[in-house]
Amino acid sequence: MSTMYDLRPLFAECGTEPLYIAGPCSAESREQVLAAARGVAACGIPIFRAGVWKPRTKPGSFEGVGAPALAWLVEAQRMYGLKVITEVATPEHLELALRAGVDGVWIGARTTTNPFAMQQIADALQGVDTAVIVKNPVIPDVDLWIGAIERIYNSGVRRIAAVHRGFGSHHTTSYRNAPQWSVPIELHRRVPSLTILSDPSHIGGRRDFIGRLSQQAMDVGFDGLMIECHPSPDEALSDAMQQITPTELGEMLRGIKLRRTAVADNELDELRGHIDNIDSRLVELLAERMDVARAIGDYKLRHDIAVVQRDRYNELLTIAENRAMSMGMSREFIHQIFSAIHEESVKLQVEKMRKE
Ligand code: PEP
Ligand code: MN
Repeated sequence: MSTMYDLRPLFAECGTEPLYIAGPCSAESREQVLAAARGVAACGIPIFRAGVWKPRTKPGSFEGVGAPALAWLVEAQRMYGLKVITEVATPEHLELALRAGVDGVWIGARTTTNPFAMQQIADALQGVDTAVIVKNPVIPDVDLWIGAIERIYNSGVRRIAAVHRGFGSHHTTSYRNAPQWSVPIELHRRVPSLTILSDPSHIGGRRDFIGRLSQQAMDVGFDGLMIECHPSPDEALSDAMQQITPTELGEMLRGIKLRRTAVADNELDELRGHIDNIDSRLVELLAERMDVARAIGDYKLRHDIAVVQRDRYNELLTIAENRAMSMGMSREFIHQIFSAIHEESVKLQVEKMRKE
């Protein structure tokens, strides 16, 4: 996609600095939708989201109310003067949503991943003037994300934005979907005129992560946020762990520090965001390594094996040093780091033996 593409703001009348979207993961009942919408409007947020058709990883989960819920969204739109958006995954969803009168739609991560589904939606968008938000694909592939955006663009839609909601991974991390900030940063580099929002709810998967992830996204230079917000989060039928009340949302947004400059164009901030992401991955990997060291400690204890096996340590060190040197790092540097890591693992295992 060329940088020359003529994209327009999602909703020019909503302003752009920063752009916030909030609402429940799912539309569950008329009362719940209206209560959420009232709370979102009271926070001064102009765009209301609610999922009507829910793509769920596991069968048997709540899959949304479907088309009847669209009427609740449109009621919220009229009552509170909000722009309302919902997720569509098929041309039928799109047709129903547009016919009901929504102001825009978003494409979920699972759909963005599938070019056939994207093309079908793009074909159905021919000649339609609406706002389309494309969430990142579940895998960290920037070309797949841009490809999905380009299909929408080629259908004639000009009001397009992207949402970064993190990426699936089989590694245990503290996130539900690892942020991998370098992917949206690369999207911004490749399509500078595109509005990019971050979705800290689906990245963190936990209420207590939302504030920190939101600040981080704004520091990296995102144009805004999409946040899940429910009048009684504990009772939510989907994504209960990651939804916050409108009051909590208002407080959180008031606490966000907006930087003086448009950091989206500040290379230093982008690079720092990248470093922060790598550092948090390093810490998570170290925690994972310590868990494995503990499991090895248990094994040694059960089989009466001494904690330090000198040959094993030397082997581990040599492998790491050789790999590091082949990647342009010094032997001393890697030696120091691995000595510290090994020392901590030994300490954990010795403590286990002492407790016996
Ligand atoms: C959602 O926004 O509720 C949703 C299903 O998101 P994602 O496609 O990012 O998983
Ligand atoms: Mn959700």
